[in-house]
Amino acid sequence: MENLIILGTGCAGLTAGIYAARANLNPLIIEGSQPGGQLTTTSEVENFPGFPEGVDGYELMDRMRKQAERFGTRFKSDWIESVDFEGPVKKLSSGNTTYEAKSIIIATGASPKFLNVPGEQEMFGSKGVSTCATCDGAFYRDMEVVVIGGGDSACEEALFLTRFCSKVTLIHRREELRASPIMAERTLKHEKIEPIWNTIVEAMLPDEEGNVRAVKIRNIKDNTESEISCKGVFIAIGHTPNTNFAEGVLDLNPFGYIVPQGKSMVRTKYDGVFVAGDCSDPNYRQAVTAAGLGCQASLEAERWLFAQETI
Ligand code: NAP
Repeated sequence: MENLIILGTGCAGLTAGIYAARANLNPLIIEGSQPGGQLTTTSEVENFPGFPEGVDGYELMDRMRKQAERFGTRFKSDWIESVDFEGPVKKLSSGNTTYEAKSIIIATGASPKFLNVPGEQEMFGSKGVSTCATCDGAFYRDMEVVVIGGGDSACEEALFLTRFCSKVTLIHRREELRASPIMAERTLKHEKIEPIWNTIVEAMLPDEEGNVRAVKIRNIKDNTESEISCKGVFIAIGHTPNTNFAEGVLDLNPFGYIVPQGKSMVRTKYDGVFVAGDCSDPNYRQAVTAAGLGCQASLEAERWLFAQETI
């Protein structure tokens, strides 16, 4: 039986791995379908402390992984489908294999939702399509961009982008924002933000070099089609936390995020089962906050294991 199994290899999971390995817990990390997590799809990370020149997202995650390996963290590639946290032996099942551990850290992250329109995946990352203004907004200084969505995330992204961009067009499929009134008011009042209502994006169009040059839109009331020129497209139609395996076992909020218990941000209702990063954090969703939560979860797991006197 393992001392500690960590699910996920994003910032939270790998940071938990570094701390747990240095505490001699000999952790096993199970990595799913996207090793390195969301940051591997970002070109440049400029806001992770310690990298004044910025760092490539993939490289940052590769460094974290090597740091975890250096202290003895082991990795296994598998996809966990169900969990059983009743009793002292926690069980994780991938269908073929059942893993057993004294303690667990869940750091499975969240996945941005996509529109699934032509051009979106081809230009995602360094070619103009993004799901994170905080990560990529500064690359669009003095340029025109569009944001898609009508919730708090879309408003937050649009407002953040006004710091850099000359114009932000907010494209929403209805004629009323879903965002909280204060966010909606702030957004609609902003002189750099132009909302376009009742409109969907049908395609993202490339220039000759394969970078975004425009979006093709359709007004769903009168069916008219047109194009909006832009250098960047920010999709902000929500995230889906990767928590399917925990349904019916852990407390999830209506959006599927695992709800931490008590004052701690990393405990769950099961002793010895901890949570960290974007799978339990709908608000901050930053590399550095996920890393911080991974650290907290690892320290809590270490203390809990020592309190059980099982290691
Ligand atoms: P959200 O509230 O679910 O909003 C998603 C938006 O995207 C909605 O306006 C929705 O349109 C639109 N949308 C969804 N699928 C679409 C599609 N296929 N095509 C076009 N548009 C689509 O998601 P969120 O904004 O990420 O917020 C999630 C939660 O986090 C919310 O509880 C939110 O309050 C919270 N949050 C809070 C803050 C903050 O307080 N600072 C910041 C960010 C998020 P419809 O409106 O037509 O459904």
